Amino acid sequence: MKIATNIDWQKIRADFPILTESVHGKPLVYFDNAATSQKPQVVIDTLVDYYTHYNSNIHRGVHHLSQLATNAYEAVRLKVQHLLHANEAAEVIFTKGATDSINLVASSWGNHNIAAGDEILISALEHHANLVPWQMLAAAKGAHVVVVPINAQGELLMDEFHRLLGSKTRLVAMSWISNALGTVNPVEEIIAAAHARNIPVLLDAAQAAPHTQIDVQALDVDFLVFSAHKMLGPTGIGILYGKRALLDAMPPYQGGGDMIDRVTFAKTTYNVLPLKFEAGTPNIADGIAFGAAIDYLQEIGLENIEAKEQALLRYATEQLLTIPGIRIIGEAADKRSVLSFMLGSAHPYDVGVLLDQMGIAIRTGHHCAQPLMDIFEVPGTCRASFAFYNTEAEIDIFIQALRKIQPLLS
Ligand code: PMP
Repeated sequence: MKIATNIDWQKIRADFPILTESVHGKPLVYFDNAATSQKPQVVIDTLVDYYTHYNSNIHRGVHHLSQLATNAYEAVRLKVQHLLHANEAAEVIFTKGATDSINLVASSWGNHNIAAGDEILISALEHHANLVPWQMLAAAKGAHVVVVPINAQGELLMDEFHRLLGSKTRLVAMSWISNALGTVNPVEEIIAAAHARNIPVLLDAAQAAPHTQIDVQALDVDFLVFSAHKMLGPTGIGILYGKRALLDAMPPYQGGGDMIDRVTFAKTTYNVLPLKFEAGTPNIADGIAFGAAIDYLQEIGLENIEAKEQALLRYATEQLLTIPGIRIIGEAADKRSVLSFMLGSAHPYDVGVLLDQMGIAIRTGHHCAQPLMDIFEVPGTCRASFAFYNTEAEIDIFIQALRKIQPLLS
């Protein structure tokens, strides 16, 4: 991966107004991008423009504003279709986010396809969002959640994956990239092996979509989920991609307006895709602003973003390892954007609080992956996560700050 030389990264950074903020009198260094990314001005402007000029409910209005809003919202569905290389826009369902998308599949697909004794195969790397909904489904059905273990580097044990993929497996639900460790899972191999046994695969792409080009048709993935807010968009909007055949066969997730075809007191028939899964007034403003985020990402190019972020991760890892007593948690050969670590015996919370005093935002704790922390026998980790608008100079500030606080915490 090579960083394109014709991209003005400084100019790009200037598109993010929050990055000039001060925190506790120090310039903000924002390394919590895996939790949520910052937003370029164009995304903020799109929100303001919508509420200022054409705020209106969509899909059923004949008036001008409603048509403007409907067109803008539906244009984003097409943008997502192209972003994912999906076969058709109807396979793109708007949700509240990755969590909501997984719950939709667990509830709608799961209720109709999972029975007592069945197994749902996940990995030890999962975010709670791709674990708890399957546990809830399994508890309701008498099914089982089976976990593929990892090695000491935080990589999936693929021999174990192939061994555990069995005659009882009804679904494989895996993260593409781990939010806690940055591990990139071999999703092509996972999908091919599952499909060889006619088992569908759901990919949690919450940490992949901001950093990687996705082609759902080339992957042949059955379901794929992510959140807009981790990829420059607003909170409260996300995507469920599903193959039409699967989505068509699934019952609605929620009932209400928009998802119906014909309603009588005796009986209701349901709308076609994608509206069948979009009951009620959707998150119109944030959906439209997500479109601006997609345009922005594509203008830079996800391949360029990935190369820049990989260079930042490499530099940060090298620099971090110069600090005595550092233990990196998660040393997979293939990693993206996330650097999880322990600073000697210091509690991650204390590290986070002291860094915050110096204007540096990292995440500390279990990263919604408590079982994974148990495997590494840590209460949590310090996690720095990078975006393309970060700089090596910020990494230098971060490393100097860690050197300064280390004696205070040992
Ligand atoms: N999966 C992964 C891998 C994540 O990192 C996150 C967010 N931290 C989620 C799922 C859930 O995303 P959201 O909270 O936006 O629904």
